[in-house]
Amino acid sequence: MSKVIIVGGGLAGAEAAFAASKLGVEVVLYEMRPERMTPAHKTPYLAELVCSNSLKADTPDTASGLLKAEMRLLGSIVLEAAEAARVPAGKALAVDREVFAKYITHRLESAENITVIREEVKSIPRERPCIIASGPLTSDALSQSIKEFLGEDNLSFYDAISPIVDGESIDYDKVFWGDRYGEAGKGDYLNCPLTREEYELFYNELINAECVPFKEFEEPRYFEGCMPIEELARRGKDTLLFGPMKPVGLIDPKTGKTPYAVVQLRKEDREGRMFNLVGFQTKMKWPEQQRVFRLIPGLERAEFLRFGSIHRNTYINSPRVLLPTLQTRKDETLLFAGQITGVEGYVESAATGIIAGINAAKVAKGEQPLVVPEETMIGALIRYITDPSKKEFQPMNANFGLLPPLKVRVRNRQKRRQLLYQRALERMKEWIKEHNLEVLSHGMD
Ligand SMILES: Cc1cc2nc3c(=O)[nH]c(=O)nc-3n(C[C@H](O)[C@H](O)[C@H](O)COP(=O)(O)OP(=O)(O)OC[C@H]3O[C@@H](n4cnc5c(N)ncnc54)[C@H](O)[C@@H]3O)c2cc1C
Repeated sequence: MSKVIIVGGGLAGAEAAFAASKLGVEVVLYEMRPERMTPAHKTPYLAELVCSNSLKADTPDTASGLLKAEMRLLGSIVLEAAEAARVPAGKALAVDREVFAKYITHRLESAENITVIREEVKSIPRERPCIIASGPLTSDALSQSIKEFLGEDNLSFYDAISPIVDGESIDYDKVFWGDRYGEAGKGDYLNCPLTREEYELFYNELINAECVPFKEFEEPRYFEGCMPIEELARRGKDTLLFGPMKPVGLIDPKTGKTPYAVVQLRKEDREGRMFNLVGFQTKMKWPEQQRVFRLIPGLERAEFLRFGSIHRNTYINSPRVLLPTLQTRKDETLLFAGQITGVEGYVESAATGIIAGINAAKVAKGEQPLVVPEETMIGALIRYITDPSKKEFQPMNANFGLLPPLKVRVRNRQKRRQLLYQRALERMKEWIKEHNLEVLSHGMD
């Protein structure tokens, strides 16, 4: 049986190593720190949390809580360490970052069938199966090698994320369907019309909203092609009216007229559970996004499933290059995991690491890799990032909008989430049993 090679000892790489080793496979884990640091990491520890010490909410009514519950069933080392390093933070799971990272480092370095090598991997290794989990700050040499392997267009260095709102939270009495120059009232886009007064109020709040500064190592000049909406607005009061808020070619069927300005919402999924604010990538702080974007008619009570952002982020075009098993289409013995696949955040990255670890172990044993059921949060997230019909791909975090709807319509949001949560965990338990993965949640040998 061949060894599993993992590049990157971050959150995803640590989970992948742990899962593969529990499935009885030898693992070699390459981590370039401390020899070579990234611009954000500060320590030599595996699974270092580079910024916030919070792993987000841990309650059953949150998508992040569901993701964690599924990961616990899969024996997550990140959540085991988080329990050991927990600090009080209300409903969130926050940790002492040093205790957390040291715990994982010790656990992996002392595991019998895991070898940790501190070395920068400069090109995709030849040994297989191999998982690339080198994260949002993958070293330049390895990035170049990935680009050569996947093709120029399939690796990005910055994300430009527009917010996504829950379709159920839109006020459909105020918005209208319509494509530019198409038939009024019909089309793929939902349009939020603004009067001059509404536009002016929105504009003033937008240009004065509080933003997140770029990190020292980020170069905002790269963003000319995908400017933050507030930055574009600051160029002049009418700039947005000729850009993302241009009304031309759109007729509001209620008035029979072209509105003064329009915000277009595009479906993120076939069922219309999630809508993207087209061209609204932003550096505004999350509470500011909620406050300012709720000034848009139709979005007064919008629930944000994903907030907008723009950061330095190395990620591949997963819908084009990955299978739902996290294997690459081009070479099924090469897998990707973590933030580089276009999932967003510590916990999401760790979750994909577990699945890549399971599937790399399967490849090493000559077995068929697995697809996680889409009713689970992990399965739905992976399905989203590997959906080949997705043309404009931007990173995604866990949210309830990703899950297939319940068979019966449940209006009450809390009740609906409760049922989705229960269904996901039942499905995950069945899947674990079906594929004899119980060993993952047992203690290490
Ligand atoms: C500045 C910054 C702040 C962030 N803040 C947050 C936050 O507050 N909350 C949140 O949820 N997410 C945050 N993120 C995202 C978060 O970092 C990721 O979601 C998470 O760490 C991704 O896990 P990963 O395992 O994919 O990558 P990482 O955790 O980054 O791990 C990748 C590892 O690969 C190593 N590596 C890279 N190249 C090579 C190579 N060539 N050879 C060997 N090893 C290599 C790196 O040293 C690193 O240890 C932030 C990201 C950045 C860059």
